[in-house]
Amino acid sequence: MPDQPDQPDQPDRSSLPAWLPAGQPYPSDAPASAALMERAQRVTPGGVNSPVRAFGAVGGTPRFMASAQGAWLTDADGRRYVDLVGSWGPMILGHCDERVVAAVREAAGRGFSYGMPSEGEVALAEEIVGRVAPVEQVRLVSSGTEATMSAVRLARGATGRSAIVKFAGCYHGHVDALLAHAGSGVATFALPDSAGVPASAAAETIVLPFNDLDAVESAFAEHGPRIAALITEAAAGNMGVVPPAPGFTAGLRRITAEHGALLISDEVMTGFRCSPSGWYGLEGPYEQGAPDLFTFGKVMGGGFPAAAFGGRADLMERLAPLGPVYQAGTLSGNPVAVAAGLSTLRACDDALYERLGRAARAIADGAVAALTAAGVPHRVQWAGSMFSVFFRDGEVTSFEQARGQDLGAFRAFFHAMLARGVHLPPSAFEAWFVSGAHDEAAVEHVLAALPDAARAAAEASDHASDDHAGGRDAG
Ligand code: PMP
Repeated sequence: MPDQPDQPDQPDRSSLPAWLPAGQPYPSDAPASAALMERAQRVTPGGVNSPVRAFGAVGGTPRFMASAQGAWLTDADGRRYVDLVGSWGPMILGHCDERVVAAVREAAGRGFSYGMPSEGEVALAEEIVGRVAPVEQVRLVSSGTEATMSAVRLARGATGRSAIVKFAGCYHGHVDALLAHAGSGVATFALPDSAGVPASAAAETIVLPFNDLDAVESAFAEHGPRIAALITEAAAGNMGVVPPAPGFTAGLRRITAEHGALLISDEVMTGFRCSPSGWYGLEGPYEQGAPDLFTFGKVMGGGFPAAAFGGRADLMERLAPLGPVYQAGTLSGNPVAVAAGLSTLRACDDALYERLGRAARAIADGAVAALTAAGVPHRVQWAGSMFSVFFRDGEVTSFEQARGQDLGAFRAFFHAMLARGVHLPPSAFEAWFVSGAHDEAAVEHVLAALPDAARAAAEASDHASDDHAGGRDAG
């Protein structure tokens, strides 16, 4: 288990010359990562396979990872970091959890991919259906993007309508129709829309401010008969953590139902993270009824490519092979990914969520204390044990407010933490992800790094640029 101190792969501070306590940070250059980045840039656009990994918003060399164990990452230069990225959500048990490793080895030993159904897919679907009450059936896919894309197609097929409503700052993957005002990576790179998305696709997307029911009422009053579905992050995590205001989700349910549109709750990030049954487990059931469709990813794949969309059986049965809405995948329900996801979900018990909550609370409290002491404006927001730190004062309820952060202060904070062995998400618009493997040693290490980083943020804040996003060249 990750919290066994004598496990050989665990960092042992006393035996690590590369281990540098606060006051003695790692050098700002990272030669092995820099050499890999140079090689990567020759053969991969921007050197990375997903834009936010390029450090575009924070500058500097992205650290190429060599291995990970428990709460710790080790980079190509042999430096260790407490991981607060968690692969952007999936690694809820920490890295190389022994139960997941055993399940993956066992599954891989039996076969990598059959192209035919197998029992693990049934068990994973049963686990999801068992956890999220309104979900009667799920279809497994390979990424969150595929899940939301398929849910949107199903909603259009079921309603015979084409328009989709989404909220500014909510990211639902790089689906053409959903890549408008899409938070995190896109916000980071100041790409409100992507090149290559046809105007015809964008014309079918109505973007509204998050947490603004009046705007939803008006949009439906005007366009109701055209709207197939409204998709929302169950609790937003891609503009930093912005939970729905009390009554917001119930209001969305009421309005969509009144107009014959479907409600899609995107739980790719929150699913099995905020609670054993995701955000729905914290806020539902709603008197007004449950969302029609849910999307899942991240945690349910345990770090492998597995995702899902699901909902009421009468809707899901409109999918091929039963119904007219086509959806398919060569690697959908891949046996190794399914084994990783199932063993991860089975380990997501009450004790795990308690551990997550404790670690998250300790780190967030430490950040608040350090930023307060250094006089840096900040705000911590929560969705269950999922949290993020905004570098601004005051409640953040919308993307517009999230964009009002002091990004210069965040950049300085990020690099000071990195230099002290803590890897935050390299963007001010992301949740900080903890895992069940974030034990006392890991948390203590983060706490020790925070005061210096907060001071660095305070210094940068004086000459902070007031731009709200990194450059386009970041991607
Ligand atoms: N929906 C949400 C809420 C997400 O956070 C993400 C990914 N961050 C996606 C969809 C897309 O998932 P993927 O990156 O697996 O395609």
